[in-house]
Amino acid sequence: MALEIVRIPVLSDNYVWLVHEPESGETMIVDPAVADAPLAEAEKRGWKITQIWNTHWHPDHTGGNAEIKEATGCVITGPEGEAERIPTLDRLVKEGDRVTLGEVEAHVIDVPAHTAGHIAYHLPSENAAFVGDTLFAMGCGRLFEGTPAQMYDNMRKLEALPDATMVYCAHEYTQSNGDFALTVEPDNTDLRARMDEVRDMRGRGEATVPTTIAAEKATNPFMRADSVEELARRRAQKDAG
Ligand code: ZN
Ligand code: FE
Repeated sequence: MALEIVRIPVLSDNYVWLVHEPESGETMIVDPAVADAPLAEAEKRGWKITQIWNTHWHPDHTGGNAEIKEATGCVITGPEGEAERIPTLDRLVKEGDRVTLGEVEAHVIDVPAHTAGHIAYHLPSENAAFVGDTLFAMGCGRLFEGTPAQMYDNMRKLEALPDATMVYCAHEYTQSNGDFALTVEPDNTDLRARMDEVRDMRGRGEATVPTTIAAEKATNPFMRADSVEELARRRAQKDAG
């Protein structure tokens, strides 16, 4: 691992990711919901923030953009499809584009559904992916601006990443997602074991994110849905619950 990745819990259940590339000295923030906490964390470590990468326009992912840019002069990259909704963007990207932090390269993947232009960043050399609100531990994002078919396609794209890929999602939703997953697959032994562990971790006040692609393939009811219809039914049940 060339990168140092720091998890910063903010608001009620958001995670902001502070990412440092020691070779170049570049430091990047993924989805800064707020400015103060990531600025303070970077300052404490003596890291100079040079970039922000946004996954989608929601305020709990972009709320710190303007203040951090003002304070640091950093360059902000985000989804081309949401340029109008994120006025602070400097660089617009879409699937197939590459973004770099120092020497480390990220591939942009389009994952619309939670929002219409949502993107994810896959860093193959680091076995890491920043997925915003598209994939959660045992869950997926709500379909605010897209369809079950789009989310189904997103799950296919993400499950195609290497099993060892660390998945950095933007919220601590694991326990409620897992409780729902158990209603869908009560006999899934991987899921039951995982939830025992999650309950212990949450009981100790620990974070359960990042997850991995392997863990999601084994336990995530949205990634494991066999059809668009099944994903749609599960999403509707979860929303109602
Ligand atoms: Zn969101
Ligand atoms: Fe969010």
